[in-house]
Amino acid sequence: MKELKLLYEGNSKIIYGCDVDGHVVIRFKDDATAFYNIKRAIIENKGKMNCRISSMVLGYLNSHGVATHFVEQLNDTDQLCRCAKHMAFEVIVRNVIAGSMAKRLGLDEGLTPENVIFDLCLKSDELGDPLINDHHAVALGLATYDELATIYAISAKINTLLCELFDKAGISLVDFKIEFGRTAVGDLILVDEFTPDTCRLWDKATGERMDKDRFRRDLGHVRETYEEVASRLANILKK
Ligand code: UDP
Repeated sequence: MKELKLLYEGNSKIIYGCDVDGHVVIRFKDDATAFYNIKRAIIENKGKMNCRISSMVLGYLNSHGVATHFVEQLNDTDQLCRCAKHMAFEVIVRNVIAGSMAKRLGLDEGLTPENVIFDLCLKSDELGDPLINDHHAVALGLATYDELATIYAISAKINTLLCELFDKAGISLVDFKIEFGRTAVGDLILVDEFTPDTCRLWDKATGERMDKDRFRRDLGHVRETYEEVASRLANILKK
């Protein structure tokens, strides 16, 4: 890989242009932020662990028929990924009630609803990523109804595949946030990351939090927990 050209630096990742046509290099950082940057810290080794975890998860999805932007892990912190224009909303998939949904609706964390819940949130730090619905997304020109139907179907498949994978690792997949993008030829693919920064993972044996809530809620052992998630996944996937 020749010299990389900085395209964008976010809170947890840096995107570089590279010499592979139609591809970018994504570098995972040790920076942790929460509550729209009010809480910040550097967590040693987080970049490496998140790169490893996201590479394993997106590689697993690729090999199970879910198209993602992930091509290969290049080194400890970097991935080669396909370019895609990111859609301006996030999809949140919830198997167990937690976090903002528990708060907003006055529900106890840990309740398991009858059905899987899908939320859409507009990506806007200024507005606090507000919850939107399909009609908002279409009216705002973010997606068509057909694209939304495809996105829900892919999200449901991702959920089924990942619940099974994490279950084998002794972890309950409580909820997660994913993003989609359109490639140059218009294909919808999964983009961004799948890491303990973007999902909730509860240890099945102890109920211990194994995700970013350890940082958000000052539960300690953030680094060790991310390392444990990486090691359990590697064990299952024989990586
Ligand atoms: N999430 C995320 N980025 C966001 C918002 C949420 O990765 O901008 C993830 C979060 O880590 C959790 C899930 O999406 O796994 C649901 O988050 P929730 O709506 O409960 O919000 P939070 O409790 O994080 O405020």
